[in-house]
Amino acid sequence: MSLSGGCQCGAVRFRVEGAVRHTSVCHCRMCQKATGGLFGPYASFPAAALIWTRGQRKTFQNSDFIARGFCGDCGTPLTFEAASGDGGHIGLTIGAFDDPSALPPQRQIMVAERIAWIDALSDVPMRTAEEEAAGAAKYPPVVSRQHPDHDIETWPPTR
Ligand SMILES: [Zn+2]
Ligand SMILES: [Zn+2]
Repeated sequence: MSLSGGCQCGAVRFRVEGAVRHTSVCHCRMCQKATGGLFGPYASFPAAALIWTRGQRKTFQNSDFIARGFCGDCGTPLTFEAASGDGGHIGLTIGAFDDPSALPPQRQIMVAERIAWIDALSDVPMRTAEEEAAGAAKYPPVVSRQHPDHDIETWPPTR
């Protein structure tokens, strides 16, 4: 298995070669903060399987044992790294992969700290396609500056 990914701006790109160990969503308060999301979605790989193909992450040591990696330019959360090396493993945020759908979570951890309303999320009303189109029509067309979901030759892109 070979999977690629990177941050939103494209300054940091990675590839993993080899099988994923496991995938999870972690509900702990640190993962909520580190991702700015509702939980930390991570896919664990042997550290040796990870290749930084463009740039390097910055890290913040958020506890004695764990550092969080992110893009220093755009802030996208990228890694969960145990100081011990976690037996030589590294967690990568599932949403940073070019195809997050390839890495469905296998388990939920630290569930005692989960945000209670997450359990009701699937019951929250969803906008219809018509409502989405009406919403989009209120704004000028979107010109994305997000890196595409695949590796590209030229960086930074010429605009
Ligand atoms: Zn970036
Ligand atoms: Zn966590």
